[in-house]
Amino acid sequence: SAGRNRYCFYSQEMAAHTNERLLLEQGLRYAIEEKQLSVLYQPQVELANGQIFGVEALLRWQHPELGMVPPDRFIPIAEESGVIDSLGRWVLERACRDIAGLRNAAGEQLRLAVNVSAREFRREDFIQTLSETLAQTGFPAGALEIEITESTLQVIERSIEILGALKRLGIAVSIDDFGTGYSSLSILRDLPIDRIKIDRSFITHLPEKKDGVAIVKAMVALAGSLHMAIIAEGIESPEQAAILRQLGCDGGQGYLFSRPVAHPALTLLLADTPDP
Ligand code: C2E
Ligand code: CA
Ligand code: CA
Ligand code: CA
Repeated sequence: SAGRNRYCFYSQEMAAHTNERLLLEQGLRYAIEEKQLSVLYQPQVELANGQIFGVEALLRWQHPELGMVPPDRFIPIAEESGVIDSLGRWVLERACRDIAGLRNAAGEQLRLAVNVSAREFRREDFIQTLSETLAQTGFPAGALEIEITESTLQVIERSIEILGALKRLGIAVSIDDFGTGYSSLSILRDLPIDRIKIDRSFITHLPEKKDGVAIVKAMVALAGSLHMAIIAEGIESPEQAAILRQLGCDGGQGYLFSRPVAHPALTLLLADTPDP
């Protein structure tokens, strides 16, 4: 009732009376069939010219009693209970259908990034699910990117296998929340990664924290020398965008350019962007 793009946190008092976790866990089982899920898309832009080159799919859950439950709250529960497997498949299919349609209408170049949790990534049938969904939706593998965090890649041998299979399919891989994990550098050295996403925490305090600029600069240089693309997330001010542009960061994502929006609004956004 507070409007769109708003999360509703219910009080601690309520949490004491209900078992929130159980409520969420049980609710998640019905979320798909009850049509409570939706996907928003946040544009990813080239910092040099503001052109939208891709979108990140972000899951939303509208709970009948709790209102909008933020993903940071329900994704961990979905992972633990295993429901994430079906949620992940649902998001992937929804997003591939939405963006495949847009690519026909608005621009063949548009890329789609989808978040994949550790549990999904390690599943025996992960690669098969991906290729089946691509076949069913007609979405081109070369325009799909999966976002995983450093912790997902902890088991290096298995990761090399999966990343190799993704590479053969033509699907790109980006490291989400880069810089917040424990083994960033060895992962970049040992694994075939296409893009680094600088975590929002490094962007939020630009430019007040002077060392913050130095760290971002180092990340950009690192990506450059490893021939990886780099994108900064959580850009909220023109000043932050200017600094990143100056440092040679290719891509940007954040409220400055657009909040995550529903499919119809994305269509309008893309229509507004002039061709390069
Ligand atoms: P993430 O992958 O790091 O996604 C970026 C989050 O930052 C999104 O939050 C986005 O709405 C928010 N954001 C974008 N620009 C700005 C900005 O300028 N300022 C600020 N303050 N925030 C910004 P969201 O949508 O709430 O998602 C939170 C997390 O939930 C995601 O973090 C991701 O880890 C997870 N998630 C979301 N959708 C999915 C999904 O379909 N599958 C999986 N496995 N995880 C998902
Ligand atoms: Ca992400
Ligand atoms: Ca992120
Ligand atoms: Ca995150």
